[in-house]
Amino acid sequence: MDTALADRLAAVDARIVEAARDAGRDPSEIVRIVVTKFHAASVITDLYALGVRDVGENRQQELSAKHRELHGLDGLRWHFIGQAQTNKARAVRAASDVVHSVDRTRIADALDAAADGPALDVLLQINLTDDPGRGGVAPREVEALAAHVHTLATLRVRGVMAVAPLDEEPARAFARLRACADDVRRVVPDATWISAGMTGDFPEAIAMGATHLRIGSAITGPRPARD
Ligand SMILES: *Cc1c(COP(=O)(O)O)cnc(C)c1O
Repeated sequence: MDTALADRLAAVDARIVEAARDAGRDPSEIVRIVVTKFHAASVITDLYALGVRDVGENRQQELSAKHRELHGLDGLRWHFIGQAQTNKARAVRAASDVVHSVDRTRIADALDAAADGPALDVLLQINLTDDPGRGGVAPREVEALAAHVHTLATLRVRGVMAVAPLDEEPARAFARLRACADDVRRVVPDATWISAGMTGDFPEAIAMGATHLRIGSAITGPRPARD
């Protein structure tokens, strides 16, 4: 077992508790997802032994391969946080417990059409930048997207997800995300999840009300080069 991994996990968890207390929140209601992209599947096995039950991947092929290899890890939940392609919807759905990146009706329809089991939890990804080429639906369009996804029987809209832009104070960007979360709840009142906060900004995300954090390198260490 990698003691550095255990130490980094414990240090991040301590910071989560501290940020939650500072915000007057109960740390036990915050889900810490460990983003394991680009790392070997053995890192997930090590994290599982340390009690981690939520892991995040951003590429479908890597998600599918690790899911195949590790499906015996009982109670492990797989979060897909990457751009989803419609022609890979079936593979994404088969390997995911939660898809954080629904940002257009076509991908929602494709995930719905790929159903062959229980309802899938999904989050609507919001683009908080001014660049329409980035992943995510524009904030002014999220309510309409929520209304559409809500009509799909096999998807369950749980809330919203976003990545803070690099060139802006995270707290300001997260305030817009929080407004989007309110918009979605007008359509789907129990869609209470807010997935936000990475290595560089998770305390700000907790202060804004994030329910799901996606933390990679602060826990796993630097990522191996992308192949
Ligand atoms: C990689 C990634 C993360 C984690 O990033 P870190 O900065 O390593 O914590 C979170 N969210 C998404 C969508 C990612 O792709």
